[in-house]
Amino acid sequence: MAGGDGLAVFGCAGCGAVLTAAVSEVALPVHLRDTHWERLHPPLLEAGTYAVDPEPYGPPWRTWEEFGAQEAAARGIFAPSGNLSDGPSDTILLAPGDMRGTRLILERAAGYCMGIDGRDGPNLACLSCDLPVGTRMDDCGCWQVVRLLPQAIVRLPGPPERPVMDWPELLATGALGQRLSEYQDIPAGVALAHVVAAARGCPVEVVSGSVADLFGPALIALLPGREGVKRLDLAGPGLGEPATELVLVPVHPQTGEMWQPHGGGVAVPVEATLWAELAFPSHRTRLPAVGGLPTGVERDDPLPPHPWLPFRPSGDAFRYTLARMPAVLEPWLRGIYDGCSSLPGTAPMV
Ligand SMILES: [Zn+2]
Repeated sequence: MAGGDGLAVFGCAGCGAVLTAAVSEVALPVHLRDTHWERLHPPLLEAGTYAVDPEPYGPPWRTWEEFGAQEAAARGIFAPSGNLSDGPSDTILLAPGDMRGTRLILERAAGYCMGIDGRDGPNLACLSCDLPVGTRMDDCGCWQVVRLLPQAIVRLPGPPERPVMDWPELLATGALGQRLSEYQDIPAGVALAHVVAAARGCPVEVVSGSVADLFGPALIALLPGREGVKRLDLAGPGLGEPATELVLVPVHPQTGEMWQPHGGGVAVPVEATLWAELAFPSHRTRLPAVGGLPTGVERDDPLPPHPWLPFRPSGDAFRYTLARMPAVLEPWLRGIYDGCSSLPGTAPMV
């Protein structure tokens, strides 16, 4: 994906002015599939990177029913969904800080609450020629991002491309950082959808403890029954391959390619930072408790409930992902899709 053409610098299609820093292409972050309500989000993309979103984005918005099942399927949506964009596809996403030489179009800078949400369409114009070139979003409840319109920009020559890191390097250098760690419920919801689709209606028994903690409750609820159990475990760099029917493998954050198992297990993709967290849980050090409470000081009794996990898979990301899989046209999976509006073992849906 990175190609041999060097880093990208995007310029204005109207006048050729430089509009971005030099940026390197990465896989589209699956975190885009959900957001946290009324929270100010960090930039979706790391500084110095960009990703292409093949799905249409921005106004006009239409309902799934307005498109009709056939037209929606042609756009990659295979089950009834909320409002769908009839805007441009292949918008280019990057961090707002990587923009150069643009200004806000103030009459299109509306938002819901704390920032701008792009509801009125392109709100960034080229400083040199005033051509609308993209949309900035930074309101609460949305990822901070700029989406450049593919027809309004040109790609200018940039400096040499960064090499694609191999898996050992990604794991050793900490490149799979924890930048979006508060949002791991979203890739978890996406991965859950891939697991359910790969199970093809059979119950799933989770082998690895961390994966069972995360996906077990939802999988039991979604895939009841006892016949034809498929076992699920982690596979990938530094772990090797278990002999299970389903293997959770990481997706390379730069190329978007899945780590390929050589055994007979069906590979199920997981976002790489979540995969690394499940495969190599960080060893938390706990300070030893010494002494006791002073006389007369009483502790909470009963103790406040502890969350059983730092997060649960996002139900919205789960449904969003299922709706974009052709397999959801099959009755068994469509039944799950229709029945999971409040999915046990997942984060509540907004
Ligand atoms: Zn321009």
